Amino acid sequence: MTQKTITHMTYGKKRHILFAFITMFSLVLPWITIEGKHFFLMSFDKKQFHLLFTSFDMQELYLIPFLLIILFLGIFFITTLGGRVWCGWACPQTIFRYVYRDFLQTKIFRLYKSIENKQQEITNRWFSQITALLVFTLFALIAASNLLWYFIPPEDFFVYIKDPNEHKLVFVMLFIFTILILAASAFLKEKFCTYVCPYVRIQSAMFDDDTIQTIYNEKLGGEIYDKNHNKLRDKAESGMGECIGCNACVKICPAHIDIRAGMQLECINCLECTDACTKIMSRFGKPSLISWTSPNAIQNGSKVKFIRFRTVAYSVVLTIAVCALLFMSTKKEHMLLDINRGSQLFSISNNHNAIENAYTFLFQNTDSKEHEYYFETLNDDVGITLPKEPFKLRSGEKSKKIVVLNTKIGSSLKANEGKPQLIKVRAYAVDDKERIFTEKEIMFFYPKISDASE
Ligand code: SF4
Ligand code: SF4
Repeated sequence: MTQKTITHMTYGKKRHILFAFITMFSLVLPWITIEGKHFFLMSFDKKQFHLLFTSFDMQELYLIPFLLIILFLGIFFITTLGGRVWCGWACPQTIFRYVYRDFLQTKIFRLYKSIENKQQEITNRWFSQITALLVFTLFALIAASNLLWYFIPPEDFFVYIKDPNEHKLVFVMLFIFTILILAASAFLKEKFCTYVCPYVRIQSAMFDDDTIQTIYNEKLGGEIYDKNHNKLRDKAESGMGECIGCNACVKICPAHIDIRAGMQLECINCLECTDACTKIMSRFGKPSLISWTSPNAIQNGSKVKFIRFRTVAYSVVLTIAVCALLFMSTKKEHMLLDINRGSQLFSISNNHNAIENAYTFLFQNTDSKEHEYYFETLNDDVGITLPKEPFKLRSGEKSKKIVVLNTKIGSSLKANEGKPQLIKVRAYAVDDKERIFTEKEIMFFYPKISDASE
Protein backbone atom coordinates (compact mmCIF):
# COMPACT_ATOMS: atom_id res chain seq x y z
CA MET A 1 0.00 0.00 0.00
CA THR A 2 1.50 3.36 -0.96
CA GLN A 3 1.81 6.35 1.33
CA LYS A 4 -0.58 8.21 -0.99
CA THR A 5 -3.31 5.61 -0.48
CA ILE A 6 -2.93 5.76 3.30
CA THR A 7 -3.15 9.57 3.25
CA HIS A 8 -6.38 9.48 1.28
CA MET A 9 -7.96 6.62 3.13
CA THR A 10 -11.25 7.83 4.58
CA TYR A 11 -12.04 7.49 8.27
CA GLY A 12 -14.80 5.10 7.19
CA LYS A 13 -12.32 2.72 5.52
CA LYS A 14 -9.95 2.88 8.49
CA ARG A 15 -12.81 2.10 10.86
CA HIS A 16 -13.99 -0.84 8.76
CA ILE A 17 -10.47 -2.32 8.72
CA LEU A 18 -10.37 -1.94 12.51
CA PHE A 19 -13.85 -3.50 12.84
CA ALA A 20 -12.67 -6.52 10.82
CA PHE A 21 -9.53 -6.83 12.94
CA ILE A 22 -11.43 -6.56 16.27
CA THR A 23 -14.01 -9.12 15.10
CA MET A 24 -11.35 -11.61 13.98
CA PHE A 25 -9.31 -11.03 17.13
CA SER A 26 -12.33 -11.55 19.42
CA LEU A 27 -13.34 -14.72 17.56
CA VAL A 28 -9.88 -16.28 17.44
CA LEU A 29 -8.51 -15.30 20.88
CA PRO A 30 -10.57 -17.80 22.96
CA TRP A 31 -9.22 -20.66 20.77
CA ILE A 32 -5.58 -19.86 21.46
CA THR A 33 -4.15 -21.72 24.43
CA ILE A 34 -0.67 -22.30 25.83
CA GLU A 35 -0.47 -25.51 27.87
CA GLY A 36 -4.27 -25.38 28.19
CA LYS A 37 -4.32 -21.78 29.46
CA HIS A 38 -6.23 -18.98 27.73
CA PHE A 39 -5.38 -15.31 27.26
CA PHE A 40 -8.51 -14.36 29.22
CA LEU A 41 -10.99 -16.75 30.76
CA MET A 42 -13.22 -16.41 33.78
CA SER A 43 -14.62 -19.89 34.25
CA PHE A 44 -17.26 -20.02 36.96
CA ASP A 45 -17.94 -23.74 36.56
CA LYS A 46 -14.23 -24.67 36.89
CA LYS A 47 -13.58 -21.84 39.34
CA GLN A 48 -10.59 -20.71 37.31
CA PHE A 49 -9.30 -17.45 36.04
CA HIS A 50 -6.83 -17.32 33.14
CA LEU A 51 -4.92 -14.18 32.32
CA LEU A 52 -2.04 -13.84 29.86
CA PHE A 53 -2.00 -17.65 29.46
CA THR A 54 -1.53 -18.20 33.20
CA SER A 55 -4.10 -19.97 35.34
CA PHE A 56 -5.19 -18.56 38.69
CA ASP A 57 -7.45 -20.27 41.13
CA MET A 58 -10.49 -18.37 42.44
CA GLN A 59 -8.61 -18.12 45.75
CA GLU A 60 -5.91 -16.17 43.90
CA LEU A 61 -8.18 -13.42 42.58
CA TYR A 62 -6.01 -10.67 44.02
CA LEU A 63 -5.38 -9.71 40.37
CA ILE A 64 -8.99 -8.64 39.77
CA PRO A 65 -8.70 -5.28 41.61
CA PHE A 66 -5.64 -4.45 39.48
CA LEU A 67 -7.57 -5.33 36.32
CA LEU A 68 -10.49 -3.13 37.39
CA ILE A 69 -8.16 -0.23 38.24
CA ILE A 70 -6.49 -0.59 34.82
CA LEU A 71 -9.89 -0.75 33.12
CA PHE A 72 -11.15 2.45 34.76
CA LEU A 73 -7.86 4.32 34.36
CA GLY A 74 -7.77 3.21 30.72
CA ILE A 75 -11.28 4.59 30.18
CA PHE A 76 -10.36 7.91 31.85
CA PHE A 77 -7.15 8.18 29.84
CA ILE A 78 -8.65 7.29 26.44
CA THR A 79 -11.68 9.53 26.97
CA THR A 80 -9.62 12.54 28.07
CA LEU A 81 -7.30 12.07 25.11
CA GLY A 82 -9.61 10.90 22.34
CA GLY A 83 -13.15 11.70 23.49
CA ARG A 84 -15.57 9.07 22.23
CA VAL A 85 -12.95 7.26 20.18
CA TRP A 86 -14.07 3.95 21.72
CA CYS A 87 -17.69 4.53 20.64
CA GLY A 88 -16.95 5.18 16.99
CA TRP A 89 -14.00 2.84 16.47
CA ALA A 90 -14.21 -0.20 18.72
CA CYS A 91 -17.54 -0.52 20.56
CA PRO A 92 -19.32 -3.81 19.74
CA GLN A 93 -22.64 -1.95 19.41
CA THR A 94 -21.13 0.26 16.67
CA ILE A 95 -19.77 -2.83 14.91
CA PHE A 96 -23.13 -4.62 15.20
CA ARG A 97 -24.91 -1.51 13.81
CA TYR A 98 -22.46 -1.39 10.92
CA VAL A 99 -23.12 -5.05 10.12
CA TYR A 100 -26.90 -4.74 10.41
CA ARG A 101 -27.63 -1.30 8.99
CA ASP A 102 -24.80 -0.64 6.53
CA PHE A 103 -23.98 -4.16 5.36
CA LEU A 104 -27.21 -6.17 5.59
CA GLN A 105 -29.98 -3.57 5.39
CA THR A 106 -28.27 -1.20 2.94
CA LYS A 107 -25.80 -3.14 0.79
CA ILE A 108 -27.51 -6.55 0.65
CA PHE A 109 -31.24 -5.87 1.11
CA ARG A 110 -31.37 -2.22 -0.09
CA LEU A 111 -33.56 -1.11 2.81
CA TYR A 112 -31.78 2.24 2.98
CA LYS A 113 -31.24 4.31 -0.15
CA SER A 114 -27.47 4.37 0.32
CA ILE A 115 -24.72 4.37 2.91
CA GLU A 116 -24.66 8.16 2.45
CA ASN A 117 -28.27 8.50 3.55
CA LYS A 118 -29.18 6.76 6.79
CA GLN A 119 -32.18 8.91 7.54
CA GLN A 120 -35.05 6.82 6.26
CA GLU A 121 -35.47 3.09 6.16
CA ILE A 122 -37.81 1.68 3.46
CA THR A 123 -40.43 0.08 5.69
CA ASN A 124 -42.86 -1.45 3.19
CA ARG A 125 -40.48 -4.25 2.12
CA TRP A 126 -41.46 -6.69 4.82
CA PHE A 127 -39.89 -9.77 3.27
CA SER A 128 -36.49 -8.10 2.98
CA GLN A 129 -36.79 -6.65 6.47
CA ILE A 130 -37.59 -10.00 8.06
CA THR A 131 -34.87 -11.77 6.05
CA ALA A 132 -32.30 -9.14 7.10
CA LEU A 133 -33.39 -9.58 10.73
CA LEU A 134 -33.10 -13.38 10.49
CA VAL A 135 -29.62 -13.17 8.99
CA PHE A 136 -28.62 -10.73 11.72
CA THR A 137 -30.08 -13.08 14.38
CA LEU A 138 -27.59 -15.69 13.17
CA PHE A 139 -24.82 -13.11 13.47
CA ALA A 140 -26.06 -12.17 16.98
CA LEU A 141 -26.00 -15.85 17.94
CA ILE A 142 -22.36 -16.14 16.84
CA ALA A 143 -21.50 -12.92 18.70
CA ALA A 144 -23.26 -14.20 21.86
CA SER A 145 -21.37 -17.52 21.61
CA ASN A 146 -18.15 -15.59 21.14
CA LEU A 147 -18.87 -13.60 24.31
CA LEU A 148 -19.60 -16.80 26.25
CA TRP A 149 -16.27 -18.32 25.16
CA TYR A 150 -14.56 -15.92 27.58
CA PHE A 151 -16.51 -17.61 30.40
CA ILE A 152 -16.92 -21.14 29.01
CA PRO A 153 -13.92 -21.97 26.79
CA PRO A 154 -14.75 -23.20 23.26
CA GLU A 155 -13.42 -26.72 24.04
CA ASP A 156 -16.13 -27.03 26.75
CA PHE A 157 -18.79 -24.89 25.04
CA PHE A 158 -19.16 -27.22 22.04
CA VAL A 159 -19.31 -30.26 24.34
CA TYR A 160 -21.96 -28.60 26.53
CA ILE A 161 -24.27 -27.59 23.67
CA LYS A 162 -24.42 -31.23 22.53
CA ASP A 163 -26.05 -32.06 25.85
CA PRO A 164 -28.79 -29.45 26.44
CA ASN A 165 -30.39 -31.32 29.36
CA GLU A 166 -27.19 -31.26 31.40
CA HIS A 167 -26.25 -27.69 30.47
CA LYS A 168 -29.47 -25.72 30.39
CA LEU A 169 -27.75 -22.64 31.82
CA VAL A 170 -25.49 -22.37 28.76
CA PHE A 171 -28.57 -22.26 26.53
CA VAL A 172 -30.29 -19.72 28.76
CA MET A 173 -27.19 -17.46 28.67
CA LEU A 174 -26.87 -17.88 24.91
CA PHE A 175 -30.52 -16.98 24.44
CA ILE A 176 -30.30 -13.92 26.72
CA PHE A 177 -27.13 -12.56 25.09
CA THR A 178 -28.55 -13.10 21.58
CA ILE A 179 -31.78 -11.29 22.49
CA LEU A 180 -29.81 -8.43 24.08
CA ILE A 181 -27.66 -7.98 20.97
CA LEU A 182 -30.76 -8.09 18.75
CA ALA A 183 -32.64 -5.63 20.95
CA ALA A 184 -29.73 -3.18 21.12
CA SER A 185 -28.70 -3.34 17.46
CA ALA A 186 -31.91 -3.99 15.54
CA PHE A 187 -34.51 -2.22 17.68
CA LEU A 188 -32.96 0.36 20.01
CA LYS A 189 -30.33 1.26 17.38
CA GLU A 190 -28.42 4.50 18.22
CA LYS A 191 -30.89 5.18 21.08
CA PHE A 192 -28.94 2.50 22.95
CA CYS A 193 -25.85 4.76 22.89
CA THR A 194 -27.76 7.82 24.10
CA TYR A 195 -30.17 6.35 26.65
CA VAL A 196 -28.83 2.95 27.81
CA CYS A 197 -25.03 3.00 27.69
CA PRO A 198 -23.64 4.28 31.03
CA TYR A 199 -20.38 5.38 29.43
CA VAL A 200 -22.07 8.21 27.53
CA ARG A 201 -23.28 9.70 30.83
CA ILE A 202 -19.86 9.88 32.48
CA GLN A 203 -17.65 10.73 29.55
CA SER A 204 -18.51 14.41 29.20
CA ALA A 205 -17.07 14.94 32.72
CA MET A 206 -13.71 13.73 31.37
CA PHE A 207 -13.63 16.04 28.36
CA ASP A 208 -11.58 19.21 28.35
CA ASP A 209 -10.96 21.76 25.62
CA ASP A 210 -8.03 19.72 24.31
CA THR A 211 -10.01 16.47 23.96
CA ILE A 212 -10.41 15.49 20.32
CA GLN A 213 -13.98 15.36 19.04
CA THR A 214 -15.87 15.63 15.77
CA ILE A 215 -16.19 19.40 15.36
CA TYR A 216 -17.76 21.63 12.73
CA ASN A 217 -15.41 24.55 12.18
CA GLU A 218 -17.72 27.52 12.38
CA LYS A 219 -14.85 29.90 11.57
CA LEU A 220 -14.48 28.19 8.18
CA GLY A 221 -18.02 27.05 7.48
CA GLY A 222 -20.01 29.91 8.94
CA GLU A 223 -22.66 30.06 11.65
CA ILE A 224 -25.63 27.77 10.89
CA TYR A 225 -26.97 27.40 14.46
CA ASP A 226 -26.95 29.85 17.37
CA LYS A 227 -25.45 29.03 20.76
CA ASN A 228 -28.76 27.44 21.91
CA HIS A 229 -28.75 25.03 18.95
CA ASN A 230 -31.55 26.94 17.16
CA LYS A 231 -31.16 26.77 13.39
CA LEU A 232 -30.55 30.21 11.89
CA ARG A 233 -30.13 29.30 8.24
CA ASP A 234 -29.56 26.30 5.90
CA LYS A 235 -26.21 27.43 4.57
CA ALA A 236 -23.64 30.05 5.37
CA GLU A 237 -24.48 33.54 4.29
CA SER A 238 -22.53 34.75 1.30
CA GLY A 239 -19.02 35.81 2.31
CA MET A 240 -19.57 34.56 5.89
CA GLY A 241 -18.48 30.93 5.45
CA GLU A 242 -18.08 27.99 3.10
CA CYS A 243 -20.89 25.62 4.11
CA ILE A 244 -23.04 25.16 1.04
CA GLY A 245 -25.91 23.56 2.98
CA CYS A 246 -25.74 20.31 1.01
CA ASN A 247 -26.73 18.38 4.16
CA ALA A 248 -24.42 15.50 3.21
CA CYS A 249 -23.11 15.54 6.81
CA VAL A 250 -26.66 15.33 8.18
CA LYS A 251 -27.94 12.60 5.84
CA ILE A 252 -25.02 10.27 6.56
CA CYS A 253 -25.16 10.66 10.34
CA PRO A 254 -26.23 7.38 12.01
CA ALA A 255 -27.20 9.32 15.16
CA HIS A 256 -29.56 11.58 13.15
CA ILE A 257 -28.00 14.82 14.36
CA ASP A 258 -26.57 17.90 12.68
CA ILE A 259 -23.02 18.37 13.95
CA ARG A 260 -23.12 21.99 12.80
CA ALA A 261 -25.23 22.65 15.92
CA GLY A 262 -22.19 21.80 18.06
CA MET A 263 -21.16 18.87 20.23
CA GLN A 264 -24.09 16.64 21.16
CA LEU A 265 -24.57 13.65 23.45
CA GLU A 266 -25.79 11.52 20.54
CA CYS A 267 -22.57 11.90 18.51
CA ILE A 268 -20.66 8.59 18.55
CA ASN A 269 -17.56 10.03 16.89
CA CYS A 270 -17.89 7.85 13.80
CA LEU A 271 -16.56 10.70 11.61
CA GLU A 272 -18.87 9.77 8.74
CA CYS A 273 -19.89 13.43 8.56
CA THR A 274 -16.20 14.37 8.22
CA ASP A 275 -15.79 11.95 5.30
CA ALA A 276 -18.99 13.29 3.70
CA CYS A 277 -17.90 16.91 4.00
CA THR A 278 -14.36 16.07 2.82
CA LYS A 279 -15.88 14.61 -0.36
CA ILE A 280 -18.06 17.68 -0.94
CA MET A 281 -15.41 20.30 -0.18
CA SER A 282 -12.75 18.51 -2.24
CA ARG A 283 -14.82 19.42 -5.32
CA PHE A 284 -13.98 23.05 -4.50
CA GLY A 285 -10.38 22.23 -3.62
CA LYS A 286 -11.08 23.07 0.04
CA PRO A 287 -10.59 21.15 3.29
CA SER A 288 -13.46 19.56 5.20
CA LEU A 289 -15.46 21.89 7.41
CA ILE A 290 -15.87 19.06 9.92
CA SER A 291 -12.78 17.57 11.43
CA TRP A 292 -11.48 15.36 14.19
CA THR A 293 -9.81 17.92 16.38
CA SER A 294 -10.07 19.74 19.71
CA PRO A 295 -12.02 22.92 20.56
CA ASN A 296 -8.73 24.65 21.48
CA ALA A 297 -7.09 23.63 18.20
CA ILE A 298 -10.04 25.12 16.27
CA GLN A 299 -10.09 28.25 18.42
CA ASN A 300 -6.34 28.92 18.18
CA GLY A 301 -5.72 27.45 14.73
CA SER A 302 -3.09 25.23 16.37
CA LYS A 303 -2.34 21.52 16.55
CA VAL A 304 -4.12 19.27 19.04
CA LYS A 305 -2.30 19.25 22.38
CA PHE A 306 -2.07 15.55 23.28
CA ILE A 307 0.61 15.93 25.95
CA ARG A 308 -0.89 17.84 28.86
CA PHE A 309 -1.09 17.46 32.64
CA ARG A 310 -4.19 15.20 32.73
CA THR A 311 -3.05 12.83 29.98
CA VAL A 312 0.47 12.58 31.41
CA ALA A 313 -0.91 11.95 34.93
CA TYR A 314 -3.27 9.23 33.67
CA SER A 315 -0.52 7.54 31.64
CA VAL A 316 1.89 7.54 34.61
CA VAL A 317 -0.70 6.01 36.97
CA LEU A 318 -1.77 3.55 34.26
CA THR A 319 1.84 2.45 33.71
CA ILE A 320 2.27 1.93 37.47
CA ALA A 321 -0.95 -0.14 37.61
CA VAL A 322 0.14 -2.30 34.62
CA CYS A 323 3.60 -2.86 36.19
CA ALA A 324 1.92 -3.80 39.49
CA LEU A 325 -0.35 -6.26 37.65
CA LEU A 326 2.62 -7.85 35.85
CA PHE A 327 4.58 -8.04 39.10
CA MET A 328 1.65 -9.56 41.00
CA SER A 329 1.03 -12.11 38.25
CA THR A 330 4.59 -13.42 38.79
CA LYS A 331 3.62 -14.04 42.43
CA LYS A 332 1.31 -16.82 41.37
CA GLU A 333 1.26 -19.77 43.77
CA HIS A 334 1.79 -23.15 42.12
CA MET A 335 0.04 -25.01 44.92
CA LEU A 336 -2.53 -24.15 47.56
CA LEU A 337 -3.02 -25.65 50.97
CA ASP A 338 -5.92 -25.11 53.40
CA ILE A 339 -5.76 -26.71 56.84
CA ASN A 340 -8.62 -27.41 59.23
CA ARG A 341 -8.34 -29.05 62.63
CA GLY A 342 -10.39 -32.09 63.62
CA SER A 343 -12.93 -31.65 66.44
CA GLN A 344 -10.80 -33.60 68.94
CA LEU A 345 -7.89 -31.62 70.40
CA PHE A 346 -5.56 -34.63 70.72
CA SER A 347 -5.51 -38.38 71.11
CA ILE A 348 -3.06 -40.99 72.38
CA SER A 349 -1.56 -43.36 69.80
CA ASN A 350 -2.55 -47.06 69.83
CA ASN A 351 0.76 -48.11 71.31
CA HIS A 352 0.45 -45.38 74.00
CA ASN A 353 3.81 -43.84 73.24
CA ALA A 354 2.76 -40.70 71.29
CA ILE A 355 0.35 -37.75 71.34
CA GLU A 356 -1.55 -37.32 68.06
CA ASN A 357 -3.40 -34.34 66.55
CA ALA A 358 -5.65 -34.80 63.49
CA TYR A 359 -6.26 -32.29 60.69
CA THR A 360 -7.83 -32.10 57.24
CA PHE A 361 -5.40 -30.78 54.62
CA LEU A 362 -6.89 -29.57 51.34
CA PHE A 363 -4.18 -29.67 48.68
CA GLN A 364 -4.61 -28.08 45.27
CA ASN A 365 -2.28 -28.28 42.30
CA THR A 366 -2.48 -24.82 40.66
CA ASP A 367 0.51 -25.52 38.40
CA SER A 368 0.12 -26.40 34.72
CA LYS A 369 1.49 -29.98 35.17
CA GLU A 370 0.80 -33.05 37.28
CA HIS A 371 2.99 -33.37 40.38
CA GLU A 372 3.49 -35.65 43.34
CA TYR A 373 2.88 -33.85 46.66
CA TYR A 374 3.89 -34.43 50.23
CA PHE A 375 4.76 -32.35 53.29
CA GLU A 376 7.01 -32.20 56.33
CA THR A 377 6.88 -30.53 59.70
CA LEU A 378 9.60 -28.03 60.46
CA ASN A 379 9.54 -28.92 64.19
CA ASP A 380 11.97 -31.75 65.01
CA ASP A 381 9.77 -33.23 67.74
CA VAL A 382 6.63 -33.51 65.56
CA GLY A 383 6.35 -36.38 63.05
CA ILE A 384 3.79 -37.61 60.52
CA THR A 385 1.56 -40.61 61.24
CA LEU A 386 -0.71 -40.14 58.19
CA PRO A 387 -0.57 -40.05 55.21
CA LYS A 388 2.41 -42.31 54.83
CA GLU A 389 3.10 -41.77 51.12
CA PRO A 390 3.23 -38.84 48.67
CA PHE A 391 0.23 -38.62 46.31
CA LYS A 392 -0.31 -37.36 42.75
CA LEU A 393 -2.49 -34.41 41.71
CA ARG A 394 -3.27 -33.44 38.12
CA SER A 395 -3.11 -29.76 37.09
CA GLY A 396 -5.98 -27.94 38.81
CA GLU A 397 -6.94 -31.00 40.91
CA LYS A 398 -7.85 -30.68 44.60
CA SER A 399 -7.59 -33.42 47.18
CA LYS A 400 -8.55 -33.64 50.86
CA LYS A 401 -6.23 -35.66 53.07
CA ILE A 402 -6.70 -36.72 56.66
CA VAL A 403 -3.41 -35.82 58.33
CA VAL A 404 -2.31 -37.11 61.71
CA LEU A 405 0.78 -35.58 63.35
CA ASN A 406 2.45 -37.03 66.41
CA THR A 407 4.98 -36.28 69.09
CA LYS A 408 6.53 -38.84 71.38
CA ILE A 409 5.47 -38.79 75.00
CA GLY A 410 8.66 -37.60 76.59
CA SER A 411 10.67 -34.41 76.90
CA SER A 412 8.59 -32.36 74.44
CA LEU A 413 5.40 -33.22 76.35
CA LYS A 414 7.09 -32.16 79.57
CA ALA A 415 8.05 -28.83 78.04
CA ASN A 416 4.63 -28.12 76.54
CA GLU A 417 2.16 -30.03 78.71
CA GLY A 418 -1.38 -28.65 78.67
CA LYS A 419 -0.56 -25.98 76.09
CA PRO A 420 -0.98 -25.57 72.36
CA GLN A 421 2.22 -25.13 70.38
CA LEU A 422 2.51 -23.37 67.03
CA ILE A 423 4.19 -25.70 64.54
CA LYS A 424 5.17 -25.12 60.92
CA VAL A 425 4.22 -27.38 58.01
CA ARG A 426 5.91 -27.21 54.63
CA ALA A 427 3.99 -28.83 51.75
CA TYR A 428 5.73 -29.28 48.41
CA ALA A 429 5.82 -30.98 45.02
CA VAL A 430 8.28 -33.85 45.42
CA ASP A 431 9.67 -33.38 41.90
CA ASP A 432 10.05 -29.56 42.15
CA LYS A 433 10.62 -28.83 45.83
CA GLU A 434 12.36 -25.49 45.38
CA ARG A 435 9.70 -23.90 43.17
CA ILE A 436 6.44 -25.47 44.28
CA PHE A 437 5.92 -25.27 48.00
CA THR A 438 3.89 -23.50 50.64
CA GLU A 439 4.30 -23.13 54.38
CA LYS A 440 1.55 -22.90 56.99
CA GLU A 441 1.48 -22.58 60.76
CA ILE A 442 -0.91 -24.75 62.75
CA MET A 443 -1.62 -25.48 66.41
CA PHE A 444 -0.53 -28.75 67.96
CA PHE A 445 -2.21 -29.48 71.31
CA TYR A 446 -0.41 -31.23 74.16
CA PRO A 447 -2.37 -32.84 76.96
CA LYS A 448 -1.40 -32.62 80.64
CA ILE A 449 1.02 -35.41 81.60
CA SER A 450 -1.61 -36.85 83.90
CA ASP A 451 -4.12 -37.07 80.96
CA ALA A 452 -1.50 -38.62 78.70
CA SER A 453 -0.65 -41.38 81.13
CA GLU A 454 -4.32 -42.44 81.73
S1 SF4 B 1 -22.20 13.89 14.03
FE1 SF4 B 1 -23.08 11.96 13.37
S2 SF4 B 1 -21.82 11.36 11.63
FE2 SF4 B 1 -20.71 12.95 12.68
S3 SF4 B 1 -19.35 11.84 14.06
FE3 SF4 B 1 -21.20 12.35 15.20
S4 SF4 B 1 -22.47 10.53 14.98
FE4 SF4 B 1 -20.92 10.40 13.40
S1 SF4 C 1 -21.31 18.44 4.32
FE1 SF4 C 1 -20.05 20.23 4.70
S2 SF4 C 1 -20.79 21.69 3.21
FE2 SF4 C 1 -22.34 20.12 3.28
S3 SF4 C 1 -23.79 20.89 4.84
FE3 SF4 C 1 -22.34 19.62 5.91
S4 SF4 C 1 -20.78 21.05 6.65
FE4 SF4 C 1 -21.95 22.12 5.03
